[in-house]
Amino acid sequence: MKKIISVVGARPNFMKVAPIHKAFQAYTDKVQHLICHTGQHFDAKMSEVFFEQLEMPKPHFFLGIGGGSHAEQTAKIMIEFEKIVLSEKPDLVIVVGDVNSTMACTVVTSKLGVKTAHVEAGLRSFDREMPEEINRLVTDVLADYLFTTEEKAHQNLLREGISEDKIFFCGNVMIDSLVHFLPKIEKSSILTQLGLEPGKFILCTFHRPSNVDSQESLTQLVGLLNSLGSERKVVFPIHPRTSNNLKKFGLDSNLSANLILTEPIGYLDFLHLTKHAELIVTDSGGVQEESTWLGVQCITVRDNTERPITVDVGTNQLIGTDLTKVLDASLKILQGYKKQGGIPYLWDGKAAERITEIVVNQLLR
Ligand code: UDP
Repeated sequence: MKKIISVVGARPNFMKVAPIHKAFQAYTDKVQHLICHTGQHFDAKMSEVFFEQLEMPKPHFFLGIGGGSHAEQTAKIMIEFEKIVLSEKPDLVIVVGDVNSTMACTVVTSKLGVKTAHVEAGLRSFDREMPEEINRLVTDVLADYLFTTEEKAHQNLLREGISEDKIFFCGNVMIDSLVHFLPKIEKSSILTQLGLEPGKFILCTFHRPSNVDSQESLTQLVGLLNSLGSERKVVFPIHPRTSNNLKKFGLDSNLSANLILTEPIGYLDFLHLTKHAELIVTDSGGVQEESTWLGVQCITVRDNTERPITVDVGTNQLIGTDLTKVLDASLKILQGYKKQGGIPYLWDGKAAERITEIVVNQLLR
């Protein structure tokens, strides 16, 4: 029996590990699959609700790390995760995405000589001011096996000198969750709860440090939200980082009464909002992909994206951080000029099945 530990740490990890855990259930005669939650995000709305809604078991290991500076958080995760790896002796550790837990756990396993697989490898924004880009680079240079979601990720890895036989293009596990939970997503009553009509509201999320950490950029963002709010109903589920900064800079009272402000929303309700929005304005990585799969108009308020397929094939438009341009692009969409999009290759709900098949039948043999 082989032992595999998958690591989750923050909100965008849960919907990636859930389908992997489910797919390993087809191999319980060969593989014991365990989940380690570092506790990078730990409150009910950023963590617990996802375990429940994504039908994941309680994590087998919980490291209880919490917040802190990047160095503090990374160091604490490494110290605690090393103990788990030493006592559990896994045959493989799986990390997903690009958060501090992804990188910290990969550094630990690499130094202990434990094989590591990175799911969602090779994505590059080519912007090292983004903490996630550092996490991606470090993780990919160390990981033994790299599972990619799009062709350009594969090319990025090859260009960085990673050998082809370590790379597997299997599709997008985040979309696996979306496909699997679609019937439940459909049943959500969030539109009624918030007094919204399908196709007649804008959904906004913002949490990237480049948009929300300085008073200047956050002030401008509040201006954008207020302008959008005078065109349509706007739902703005506020990430804890953004919420703290709005308070810190005294900007929370500047948000127009037209806006529907909420705490972070649970997975099923959030995807219901995504599916029925007229427009999404975001700086999230995952939301760019989910809106592409659902064919919903998405404007990304960033200067770069590590997920170029959402622009090349999908409905995403990368507008940049000049908010006058963002407002212009939004108004165009609200006037009916929509970007046509398709679904990227292998975003079919079966990525985790492909990954686990390769892990069990090729990598762990
Ligand atoms: N999400 C959610 N509730 C929210 C905002 C986002 O369930 O209020 C989901 C979203 O559907 C996607 C994931 O969280 O599956 C994206 O996480 P986030 O935007 O925090 O991280 P990023 O993808 O930017 O790293």
